[in-house]
Amino acid sequence: MKKRLAIIGNGMACGRLLDELYRRGAGAAFDVTVFGEESHGCYNRILLGRILGGGTAEEITTKPRDWYADRGVTFRPDTTVAKLDPSSRTLVTSDGAAVPCDVAVIATGSAPFIPPLDNLTKPDGCPKAGAFVFRTVDDCQRIRAYARPASSAVVMGGGLLGLEAAKSLSDLGLRVTVVHLPEWLMNLQVDRMGGEFVRKAVEKLGIFVRTGVAATGFTGVEKVEGVVLKTGEVLPADLVVMAAGVRPRVDVARASGIAVNRGIVVNDLMATASPGVFALGECAEHNGVVYGIVPPIWEQCEVLADVLTGANPLARYKGSKLYTKLKVAGVDVASMGIIDAKQDSDEVLQVLEERRGIYRKLIVRDGKLAGAILVGEGDTAASLARWFDRGDSLPANRLDLLCSGDLSPAASDPEICNCHHVCQSTIVSAIADGHTTLPSLSAATQAGTGCGSCRGQLANLILKSAKSAV
Ligand SMILES: Cc1cc2nc3c(=O)[nH]c(=O)nc-3n(C[C@H](O)[C@H](O)[C@H](O)COP(=O)(O)OP(=O)(O)OC[C@H]3O[C@@H](n4cnc5c(N)ncnc54)[C@H](O)[C@@H]3O)c2cc1C
Repeated sequence: MKKRLAIIGNGMACGRLLDELYRRGAGAAFDVTVFGEESHGCYNRILLGRILGGGTAEEITTKPRDWYADRGVTFRPDTTVAKLDPSSRTLVTSDGAAVPCDVAVIATGSAPFIPPLDNLTKPDGCPKAGAFVFRTVDDCQRIRAYARPASSAVVMGGGLLGLEAAKSLSDLGLRVTVVHLPEWLMNLQVDRMGGEFVRKAVEKLGIFVRTGVAATGFTGVEKVEGVVLKTGEVLPADLVVMAAGVRPRVDVARASGIAVNRGIVVNDLMATASPGVFALGECAEHNGVVYGIVPPIWEQCEVLADVLTGANPLARYKGSKLYTKLKVAGVDVASMGIIDAKQDSDEVLQVLEERRGIYRKLIVRDGKLAGAILVGEGDTAASLARWFDRGDSLPANRLDLLCSGDLSPAASDPEICNCHHVCQSTIVSAIADGHTTLPSLSAATQAGTGCGSCRGQLANLILKSAKSAV
């Protein structure tokens, strides 16, 4: 008899887990039900900027409703799960319905962090018009409907999400100021010098930047009219996007008595201490780490699919190496591993090209790549990421590596899509097979369907092949 598998949360982790499960023939072993608080089929959250730019939800949907129906998956959109009762193998939805399940996977992701702000709500306690977060399709549609060209916008947070929101709003014709509490932009991914290069690149896009300053509240009664800074200054703002970080959504786990630290605590099998209950994605904490980007989540999905289907019962998740790329057009930023030397023996190489706006930094420990930062230059990132990922001993000519990319034999076939590990040769042969548009090439190879930062390179390869055919 089939087991009843419930997946709570229909986000990116759920979507990838479903792919991995069905690739391993899970349909024969499980009746799967997906509970999603949002009304959409699974979509690529990474591409939300496109909705801000006027795109439709369909453009970023990875699993339309048919996908679930075609595989016999019961999809329950607009359904929030309130808690699980592992002993009676039941889950309870927020409207009080009890649903039996044998195995449950919690994939509830994160919620935007809203810093303490004065005057955040209207006198009746409802959220003030013009104040938004940036997490879902619905958030983006609301921002898009409210944004008017020539209005002023403040984005609170100069990290990955904040800069992405700022660029999208600026592209819509708004005057955008980014307010960032730490002293430099993208402080989690780059060092102070890197932050200065990012700032210059962002300012070149026409976006104003204020760092090292806290926003303390809003002005305006029914709607936002300005953002008050700790200095007392008020920045006029018709629209505010709060992108000051995220917090794991652990409410279901907490209500169910499942151990929670910062995230839901899981072991190497992605299992919680509660029998039959697993967790993965941004809500899960493994070895004290909560990941906030998708590559580690993909690795977690593979392990959990192996474990649940028995395809590889010995699969274990051992943590992930971090590699981040900012995909905002006009600002190339890549960061991996540590961003500053931590030990006396760490070797640091830095190359600054002020005029070209390029900053490169390499941190070497025991002859291996311990960390790297690249700002203003996107071509070398993939090869550095490979050295980082494999943990190979670096060649002696590290400066060449930092400035011109991979010196290994694999350099002749560079990895174009780091999310799905797709190399250039695979892409070139798919183009030769007739996949000469971006959607068709992505469907054939998976390249470009993760963070989307390689889509420019894919388009170039298509163009190159068309030119060589003339
Ligand atoms: C604008 C934006 C840009 C990003 N860019 C990048 C990038 O370039 N690269 C990168 O690697 N990562 C990026 N990320 C982060 C990436 O999107 C997340 O790491 C990823 O979505 C996490 O997947 P998840 O499934 O854990 O959480 P989510 O994708 O957030 O999915 C969780 C889902 O669970 C639902 N849910 C929560 N609680 C319940 C409940 N009780 N019952 C039912 N459903 C529930 C939520 O509504 C949500 O739909 C970006 C994120 C955003 C918002």
